[in-house]
Amino acid sequence: MSAEGIDRVVIVGASLAGLRAAEALRDEGFTGRITLIGDEAVPAYDRPPLSKQVLLGQVAPEATALPHTRDIDARWRLGVAATGLDLSRKTVLLADGTKVPFDRLLIATGTRARPWINEAEARLEGVLTLRTAEDAEHLSRLLDAGPRRVVVVGAGFTGSEIASACRERGIEVTVAERGAAPLVGALGGVVGDVAARLQRAHGVDLRCGVTVTSLEGDEAGRLRRAHLSDGTVLDADVAVIALGALRNTGWLEGSGLAAGPRGIAADAACRAFDHNGIATDDIFVAGDVARMPHALFGYQFLSLEHWGNAVEQARLAAHNMLAAGPDRRPHLWIPAFWSSQFGVSIKSVGVPTMGDEVVVTQGSLEEGRFAAVYGHRGRVIAAVSFDHGRWLDHYTGLIESAAPFPPVFTGVDRPPPGTTAVSAGFPDPSVPSHGPTVTVSGYAPSERRITFTPAPA
Ligand SMILES: Cc1cc2nc3c(=O)[nH]c(=O)nc-3n(C[C@H](O)[C@H](O)[C@H](O)COP(=O)(O)OP(=O)(O)OC[C@H]3O[C@@H](n4cnc5c(N)ncnc54)[C@H](O)[C@@H]3O)c2cc1C
Repeated sequence: MSAEGIDRVVIVGASLAGLRAAEALRDEGFTGRITLIGDEAVPAYDRPPLSKQVLLGQVAPEATALPHTRDIDARWRLGVAATGLDLSRKTVLLADGTKVPFDRLLIATGTRARPWINEAEARLEGVLTLRTAEDAEHLSRLLDAGPRRVVVVGAGFTGSEIASACRERGIEVTVAERGAAPLVGALGGVVGDVAARLQRAHGVDLRCGVTVTSLEGDEAGRLRRAHLSDGTVLDADVAVIALGALRNTGWLEGSGLAAGPRGIAADAACRAFDHNGIATDDIFVAGDVARMPHALFGYQFLSLEHWGNAVEQARLAAHNMLAAGPDRRPHLWIPAFWSSQFGVSIKSVGVPTMGDEVVVTQGSLEEGRFAAVYGHRGRVIAAVSFDHGRWLDHYTGLIESAAPFPPVFTGVDRPPPGTTAVSAGFPDPSVPSHGPTVTVSGYAPSERRITFTPAPA
């Protein structure tokens, strides 16, 4: 049976969030029509292995297809992009001229890799980004050919994972990072310094505080050299541009939705805002393209490029699409992310970038095996672990209960060594939120409540 008045659900973006939302709609009992529209011609696949197992040759790019958790009985329109949205007529316009009407629309168009700034240089053979299975297949082929050197531009998670795969394959790699350390934007300077040591210990030629200024090719259009801002010139056959992602919102220009370079703004129920800041009742967003407030993080709008976030928001959007007002649920999932690089499993929970301070609570930075907790205005806001993930559930609990920072260790005579909080060392610290601190309680799906507690004095 369909929810009242809802017969046609259209999902734009047929990847992780799109697929999981379709499955959740059926789980919720929706019996109407589901149409999935995706501009990639291939069925939904998983992206995390693309910079890990695929580059190591452990998994073929075509073997990353996402498993279906159930039959969704949907119409798939793959290989065709949505190019426009008519809010008043409730139709999605496709590149082939088709108009697809909907009662409820889910936008899950994710992100794309930020391209190299110089278009001519970006076209050189050997210069590429990594976002799709096709990109991964291309990069794997280039690595198989045994390049003299790979230059990775940008030492965020993707860049660092690519460097790790190169070293594991015995390929010379230079990582050029504008910031002071790898992962500094995501995890801050204290943890970034550990990541830098890790890279160098594995033979990465890591250059921080520099940018790549140009890429030079030969007459045949093949990459030959990379020029750095410190005057260095590196011979290289491959350059991977790992400068982050851009949100796929261009097709919504002029639609009247609050969509822009930072994503599509939505309320905590995944309902997209129009450009007047009014929540639409029939258009929902999920995954990397979404931007929505989170009660636990000062109601800041969070845009997350996290696998788990895409899955959670997809389920939530599906539920809220069909639910009547009081039965709608807010997005209260605690952000969680993982990465594996240089043999180390890195995990984070919460929002480290909101952290003013960080304290190592287990293990040690020197060993490179530790758990560290981030604090914001005297409350625990995030935690990160390097090969120390077993305790992350505990730290998630501290984040959920807005526990005092630094965390208190009850049951031990003395606090563990190194429990002095220091500046987290983010290059561009976000302005602290002045909202109330919030405690989340009640995780039964039927009873999700939030309790407000005053901010600490
Ligand atoms: C190399 C790599 C490694 C990663 N590793 C990790 C990891 O270790 N841990 C982690 O937590 N996360 C990781 N991620 C992030 C994770 O994969 C994403 O958070 C997740 O894919 C988001 O899913 P999504 O469905 O929101 O968006 P996407 O996966 O980006 O899917 C959006 C889909 O919409 C399509 N689309 C875009 N515009 C249109 C349009 N106009 N019309 C039709 N279709 C359109 C896109 O082509 C795409 O198929 C990684 C990502 C990459 C690229």
